[in-house]
Amino acid sequence: KLILIGPPGSGKGTQARLLSKKLKIPHISTGDILREVVKNKTQLGQEAQAYMEKGELVPDNVIIEIIKERVSRPDCEKGYIFDGFPRTLTQAQMLDKIFKEKNKELDLVIQFKISDESLTKRLSGRLICSKCGADYNLYFKPPRVGDICDRCGGKLLPRQDDKKNVVINRLKVFKNQTKPLVNYYQKQAKIKDIDADKKSENLNQELLQLIDAEVNPNGLPEKQSFPAESAEE
Ligand code: ADP
Ligand code: ZN
Repeated sequence: KLILIGPPGSGKGTQARLLSKKLKIPHISTGDILREVVKNKTQLGQEAQAYMEKGELVPDNVIIEIIKERVSRPDCEKGYIFDGFPRTLTQAQMLDKIFKEKNKELDLVIQFKISDESLTKRLSGRLICSKCGADYNLYFKPPRVGDICDRCGGKLLPRQDDKKNVVINRLKVFKNQTKPLVNYYQKQAKIKDIDADKKSENLNQELLQLIDAEVNPNGLPEKQSFPAESAEE
């Protein structure tokens, strides 16, 4: 059970998708789930949209319901990667409660650290395929042809909330509401930093090594390097 914390544009989403494939556990992005909810035009969808368009956080109780439902599905048995959750202290406390109830434990929180300069480029250059969701960046990962997706031919669009004033607000919200979580997890001694200015492939390698070193798979007792003595049994 992993949590990725970092400002918008730090590449958490990309890394979470890569990790999910390699570790074979689901990637749970509250941002992605909310964008799906918004597409459905329900009352909840419209409410969520209003917050997201301004770069504000969707209320904690909505997020918690979404998470509770998601982690109770069978594909979450072996673990999962949270991307964009928890984002407030209340969400982190609620998550601790969920873990307790399920008799599970958080394994590791990874903080993505990145310079402001890279952040601005990443966010202002970002394009998303309107059909398959693949992401591109005009500076770092441009599409082969114009605004067309290499994978499926869909039209590439900027994300609604990547507009300049909204980005500024998302960064502010991150600093005020999400950054304090670093302290919260430091107290639980469960957080590691990673330099997110690195290229995606290198970063992914580093993440895998970190997880390998820090997380004990399946929660089993540590493997012993030598066969245990059986004489006294
Ligand atoms: P980013 O991290 O790039 O800002 P996300 O896709 O994670 O983007 O989130 C987009 C928006 O969805 C946020 O600005 C916020 O409005 C909403 N959102 C996502 N996750 C949460 C959460 N855990 N709590 C509250 N709001 C959230
Ligand atoms: Zn596509």
